[in-house]
Amino acid sequence: MIEDKNKSNTKISELGEFGLIDHLTRGIKLRHKSSVKGIGDDAAVISGDIELQKIITTDLLVEGVHFDLGYMPLKHLGYKAVIVNLSDVYAMNAQPKQITVSIAVSNRFPVEALDELYDGIKTACKIYNVDLVGGDTTSSTSGLIISITAIGEAKKEDIVYRSGAKENDLLVISGDIGGAYLGLQVLEREKQVFKANPNSQPDLEPYTYLVERQLKPQARKDIVSLLKELEVVPTSMIDISDGLSSEILHICKASKTGCNIYEDKIPLDPQVISTCEEFELDSTTIAMSGGEDYELLFTIKTEDFPKIKANPNLTVIGHITAQKEGIHLITRANTKIPVIARGWNSLQEE
Ligand code: ADP
Ligand code: MG
Repeated sequence: MIEDKNKSNTKISELGEFGLIDHLTRGIKLRHKSSVKGIGDDAAVISGDIELQKIITTDLLVEGVHFDLGYMPLKHLGYKAVIVNLSDVYAMNAQPKQITVSIAVSNRFPVEALDELYDGIKTACKIYNVDLVGGDTTSSTSGLIISITAIGEAKKEDIVYRSGAKENDLLVISGDIGGAYLGLQVLEREKQVFKANPNSQPDLEPYTYLVERQLKPQARKDIVSLLKELEVVPTSMIDISDGLSSEILHICKASKTGCNIYEDKIPLDPQVISTCEEFELDSTTIAMSGGEDYELLFTIKTEDFPKIKANPNLTVIGHITAQKEGIHLITRANTKIPVIARGWNSLQEE
């Protein structure tokens, strides 16, 4: 962890568990009418409109497994921990309203470090208009563990599952992919350089987009609103947390379909292309297997194509086929390669 010598270091034990909870959650305001009771009782109370269904999702993040505090500032970590949950709610075509945050911390963290974490959490709540309504705080003998639960809502007819894709539907992706994975590679490399020479100054300028994709991802709230505006209800949807190949396999498995993805259609940022060249990586492999982009992958009926085609945020990258056709990447050279869980099997041409 990068220590700021000017900041005081208050031990958690000086506040105690309840003091710490009070400290971290003071000044939290509730934004939604449905947040009837937030932090401060045995449980939160949330009211529900009879027409709306509730969407619940949880993620658990473990230090050393899901994040490395060596290059992840705590503020960014708090922010990202919220974003990954909200992304799951948006992937159901729903709106997140509340979150709970549970943390297990070792006493190597001063209170000021947790303040940074909560700074990021509160910033995400503000930007995405969600209420922090509760959580739990406990100690950990090793690293930091964060679990966030998000609660959202949507009309029954608006909720989109992974299982609704039908043959001939178009496969659409928001934004571009591969950036977050490359951002991590850049940060890992800088960490090694810094270890070897602590006086070295990292030059992240050519990689700003990639590093931002890794450290400060966005959940595609805007895409859910856009689809509503365009009056498009996707037939299936998932967020891209583990990489395109893994997500398309989930959609096809749940929908009992096959799929063709066209390599030349996969949207890549110019920094992804140039950095792949520099690192001698294949950009398609990175797009298929790199994760953490938090873009949305969804299918639409072909008749909805005119509604989305002019939008620069949305790219059609393929179409759904019958299950017996299998799941394939059609390469630029027009060869058909089966998609496997971690990417695509370049050895197994058909
Ligand atoms: P209990 O003993 O009933 O679990 P706690 O003392 O753990 O209650 O929590 C008191 C209140 O503070 C509850 O409303 C709880 O949801 C909230 N809370 C506890 N830890 C956190 C946290 N890390 N972040 C946000 N809210 C928290
Ligand atoms: Mg508790």
